[in-house]
Amino acid sequence: AAKHARTGVRAYQAQDDLNTPRRLTLMAELRSAIEAGALTVAYQPKIDPEDGRVLGAEALARWLRPDGPVPPDEFIPLAERAGLIPALTRFILDTALAACADWRSGGRDLSVAVNLSPQILTEPGLADDVSDALRRYGLPPTALTLEITENGVMEDPARSVRTLELLHALGVKLSIDDFGTGHSSLGRLAELPIHEMKIDKSFVRGLTSDQTRRAVTDAALQLGRTLGLIVVAEGVEDESELEYLRRHGCSAIQGYYISRPLPTEQFAEWLSGRPT
Ligand code: C2E
Ligand code: CA
Ligand code: CA
Ligand code: CA
Repeated sequence: AAKHARTGVRAYQAQDDLNTPRRLTLMAELRSAIEAGALTVAYQPKIDPEDGRVLGAEALARWLRPDGPVPPDEFIPLAERAGLIPALTRFILDTALAACADWRSGGRDLSVAVNLSPQILTEPGLADDVSDALRRYGLPPTALTLEITENGVMEDPARSVRTLELLHALGVKLSIDDFGTGHSSLGRLAELPIHEMKIDKSFVRGLTSDQTRRAVTDAALQLGRTLGLIVVAEGVEDESELEYLRRHGCSAIQGYYISRPLPTEQFAEWLSGRPT
């Protein structure tokens, strides 16, 4: 598999055999890592490109083993295979909401976004768990955004849509992640009770020098406007991309140009130096 250009981390590839000795070891260790609270969460800010105001952050799971970090693109699929997604999701949700309650204690109206695996959307108890967790941290439902993928919803549309409707009724915000990479029709998408869509980083990165990426980004911004959705661009890596998105009415941006995902304390520090 290819190495990630920046991090040198081996990227997960769908065609890789899931039963290699490394994967079997990781799967066994992951179970105890989740139970022992050995996973951590990194936070990547979302800002308003208009005025630079911080809107919140996305929570991203991190797993540091003695011989180095395991990228989420590698361990999330393993967690899915091992039936560990409910436990992992509960941990990330709890940690992220605790962090969000802390950011808001300074009086800022910040929100946190948590990624949901397709599998969890078919859990009948998800909405109740989310509601309990919000209550535990004294947070309004609007402080939480749940990011789902189009393909995730389509794995079991009937049950997933039911869960999304329950979450929507709670008042939690729902976001379609990796927009542009899925296989669902725009018609289906428009029927979902969603609040936000995130243009995938593969279209955002380099959009100012690539006509195809720019065309997809423009179409997504247009669609978002038509459907009344907040449009977030992820993977913003330079000033020209930020400027383009700002001029074209993008509501929020996220990317290395603003900040890499940061550990809890570093994120709090980063936040203290930013306009409210
Ligand atoms: P994602 O949800 O699309 O998250 C965005 C990914 O893009 C993150 O990778 C983030 O670090 C990376 N990124 C952010 N800005 C930039 C940029 O400017 N340039 C580039 N090249 N990349 C950027 P990360 O943290 O490695 O996560 C990868 C994927 O793993 C996530 O993609 C998400 O699908 C999954 N994941 C991470 N945490 C969780 C989790 O708690 N639960 C679930 N179910 N999935 C998770
Ligand atoms: Ca995401
Ligand atoms: Ca994404
Ligand atoms: Ca560029």
